[in-house]
Amino acid sequence: MQQFSNYINGVFVPANNGRVFQNINPADSRDIIGEFPLSDSSDADAAVAAASAAFHSWRLVPAPQRGNILRRAGDIFERRKDELAAIMTREMGKPLFETRGDIQEAIDTCYYAATEGRRLFGYNAPSEMPNKMNLSFRNPVGVCGIITAWNFPVAVPSWKIIPALVCGNTVVFKPSDDAPHSGVIFAEILAEAGLPAGVFNVIHGNAEAGAAIVAHPDVKVIGFTGSTATGKAIAADCGRMNKKCSLEMGGKNAQIVMEDANMELALEGVLWGAFGTTGQRCTATSRLILHEAIHDDFLEKLIARATALRLGNGLQSETQVGPVINKRQLEKIENYAQIARGEGAFCALGGERATDGDLACGNFFKPTIFTEVTKDMRLFREEVFGPMLAVSKARDLEHAIELANYCEYGLSSSIFTANVDAAFQAIRDIEAGITYINAPTIGAEAHMPFGGIKGTGNGHREGGWTVFDIFTEWKTVYVDYSGRLQRAQIDNQ
Ligand code: NAD
Repeated sequence: MQQFSNYINGVFVPANNGRVFQNINPADSRDIIGEFPLSDSSDADAAVAAASAAFHSWRLVPAPQRGNILRRAGDIFERRKDELAAIMTREMGKPLFETRGDIQEAIDTCYYAATEGRRLFGYNAPSEMPNKMNLSFRNPVGVCGIITAWNFPVAVPSWKIIPALVCGNTVVFKPSDDAPHSGVIFAEILAEAGLPAGVFNVIHGNAEAGAAIVAHPDVKVIGFTGSTATGKAIAADCGRMNKKCSLEMGGKNAQIVMEDANMELALEGVLWGAFGTTGQRCTATSRLILHEAIHDDFLEKLIARATALRLGNGLQSETQVGPVINKRQLEKIENYAQIARGEGAFCALGGERATDGDLACGNFFKPTIFTEVTKDMRLFREEVFGPMLAVSKARDLEHAIELANYCEYGLSSSIFTANVDAAFQAIRDIEAGITYINAPTIGAEAHMPFGGIKGTGNGHREGGWTVFDIFTEWKTVYVDYSGRLQRAQIDNQ
């Protein structure tokens, strides 16, 4: 069986304790991809020590030169795209066209960060005193601990790792144990691009390894993507240590379809939003809110289209919907189907595992649609993270927005309407970090801020220019060339 390693100070090494875990193909449990180190705090200590030592010199490399290395990393991701997509699909299940898109997001992020190396703008402002100049600069923070989920194994880590590096930080990365291969991919690519040893390090493992990174006093900022429960626990630890942390957590995203919408477009939108990535996206459309005037007609067409979706191994070109990530998640989705039935929702499609032929060897759940879902039901409010769509009916726009807002999360949202007034009202009133007009709840672009409010985030935004606020600290500089003591408010009162 293939053995994989941690990556510390430019060298691939096993876990100190010698323990390993297996990486299993979710589409076929007979396919064991390899064994990865099950790291503990001693591995985290070694990785953080390497990253701390490397920080002294990496922070002094001019940012445009740091950007050049990341541009080369983007070129290598591009060159290896097909090979990496196959690795990722085998490991976490989504079809090849999706894993290629996952890598494209990392390429875009590398090229964006490369040019940011020539910007990283600060602000200047006039001084209130004569012959004095006020400036501000971004400084790197230090060692960044990056801990991520498995559903975007390359794209999501790239949103954190690449900006952190261009800002002059060093990194210790712990990928999800459900998709650990991305750690190896980043190590190989960043080394080939010319990143000095120790600047980027990887330790594999589960919560134990992640918690060790969070707890390490020399890790200055945590960039986390995962469930809200884990994120809140990490935030509590960071709070006790006065450590900066950026959290990207769960979602329960709604698509609203108004009576005047382009129905074909709205149908395509919800099919992609709800069942793309097998519904395992933080931005997946897990709630569909239909205006009552089009409810029955839309639903009939949606069920027909969802019935025709092809489930299968993502490595096969005809597959539209892959497996769910692991047995635990399969059981969780199954449990939600039971809960929804018990609460009085109607199962209009699916609602059970798919076990025909080869599907029996993997973690497959049928695309599922529950209708007559009301806001008091758990299915309406709780994140399932699977191919399960909850459909509700709204009387009018105000009611639709009220329903969309009735949940703990606030990541993505969407409205299909031809009415410009309704669109702007939705933009203003929907409580979410992202609102799409006439597009599904998924489809973020690397150069725009990404993140959510309420239970989804803690005020930070990845992507775009906003990510640089996570990975830098501001330094304000006053230059007084008056040759005399000037005392700001004391002189100017
Ligand atoms: P998870 O919270 O179980 O795990 C996420 C990561 O945290 C993993 O690497 C895990 O090993 C690590 N971890 C677990 N416990 C830890 C602890 N106590 N201390 C430190 N690290 C710990 O999430 P998951 O099941 O891998 O991913 C699914 C979740 O991720 C969903 O809720 C989904 O919405 C969310 N997600 C959010 C975004 C976003 O950008 N908002 C993107 C993708 C996924």
